[in-house]
Order: sequence, then C-alpha cells, then structure tokens
Amino acid sequence: MSFIVAIDGPAGTGKGTITKLVSEELGLTNIDTGAMYRCVTLQALRENIKVNEEEKIVKLLNNIDIKLKNESGKLLVFLNDVDVSKDIRTPIVDEYVAKFAALKCVRDKLTVLQRKIGENSNIIMEGRDIGTTVFPNANVKIYLDASIEERAKRRYKQDIEKGENITYEEILENIKQRHILETQREISPLKKADDAILVDTTNLSIEEVKNKVIEIIKEKM
Ligand code: C5P
Repeated sequence: MSFIVAIDGPAGTGKGTITKLVSEELGLTNIDTGAMYRCVTLQALRENIKVNEEEKIVKLLNNIDIKLKNESGKLLVFLNDVDVSKDIRTPIVDEYVAKFAALKCVRDKLTVLQRKIGENSNIIMEGRDIGTTVFPNANVKIYLDASIEERAKRRYKQDIEKGENITYEEILENIKQRHILETQREISPLKKADDAILVDTTNLSIEEVKNKVIEIIKEKM
C-alpha cells in the first residue's frame, strides 16, 4: 500500500519549501522531481551536449544514476554518487532545464524512476506533472500558484542569499521563459489536474500555506 500526495505548480510558488515542511510534519518521504530534471541538465551541460543531440542524450540517460537522500533535515541530491545539491541550482541550469525537460526520452526515463519510488511508500512528490501524468490516481493533489512577479521576487531573494550575481529582471525573464516552455510543451505540460485543489500563495506566508496544505492532506489520510 502507498499514500501519495502530488504537489504541482510553476517555479517560485514555494513548492520545495512547503513540501519539505509538510513531509517532516506528516512523516512522508519528500521527493523533488525538479532535482532529477536538473541532474540530467547538469550532466548534459558538463558533457557539452545540445538539446537536439538525441542520441547523445539517450546514452547519457543510460549512464546516469540519480539518488535523493533526506539527511538531518536536508534534501541532498546525488548524481553518480557525487553530491550535486548546490550545482543543480545555478542560473545556468535554470536557463537550460526546461529545454531538456521537454524531451520525450528524458521524461520517459524520469517518469519510470518516479513511479518506482512511489511503489509501497508514503510520499509527497513535487513537480509539474505529478498529478496529471506520474500519479494520476494520487490520494491527494494540490496545485500551488502565485503571480509571476511574486514568484520572481521569491526566486530573486533566494538567489541573492546564495550569493548569485543576478538581477531581478533576469530572474523575471527566466521565470517567464520557463513558464512558456512548461505550459506549451507537447508531453506532460504544466497544468492543474481537474481534481487538484488550487492554493494561490501570492499573499500567503509560508506558515499559512503549510497549514492549508496539511489541512487538505489530513482530510484524506
Ligand atoms: O521545480 P524546479 O524549478 O526545480 O524544476 C526544474 C525544471 O524541471 C522545471 O523548470 C521544469 O522544466 C522541469 N520539471 C518538469 N517536470 C517535473 C519537475 C520539473 O518538467 N515534474
């Protein structure tokens, strides 16, 4: 038996933060699927592989090992057994990830991996297509949203705290570009599942969103 909570929504809606807090409070395993798409992108950039070089990408996918580990309250991401938790969250990966994530070979491989992780487990999985494609029968589906300016503001704050040299305008542009690529791609575009509950986080604090999400999940537990 498994219990699956699907959290979807665009970049900058607080999915990562909320999923982590809720997973700790409810004892669910936290799975960040964006981190997986980021690993594939990072490896492709390192090997100088372009988005249109399908043969090379397929080979890369066959040789890649991605593991997510929760260690003392931190979500760590391992690519071929090396901790890449920081390397996958840089502006260059932000710039390319939605392009690699649109490819069928990439989505097929990661969807299989994500479904395997969900077998016989109690998880909260966040991404773009969890409630629509990966787990259409999830026990709970939540779609987090926020205005595009608020999302860019949050991402800007995060990046500045990390010491990245980037402007608000650059972030806003990246968020806009990714939104177009993610909502308009052919395979598993970002969209709210019909039976997902929408939570608009624009004017809510992290604490308020967390409490709302926990309330929704507890009703179904
Ligand atoms: O959530 P995060 O911003 O880290 O995700 C990085 C990218 O991975 C997204 O911009 C999106 O293009 C892609 N992604 C996806 N499907 C998912 C999770 C992420 O296409 N389930």
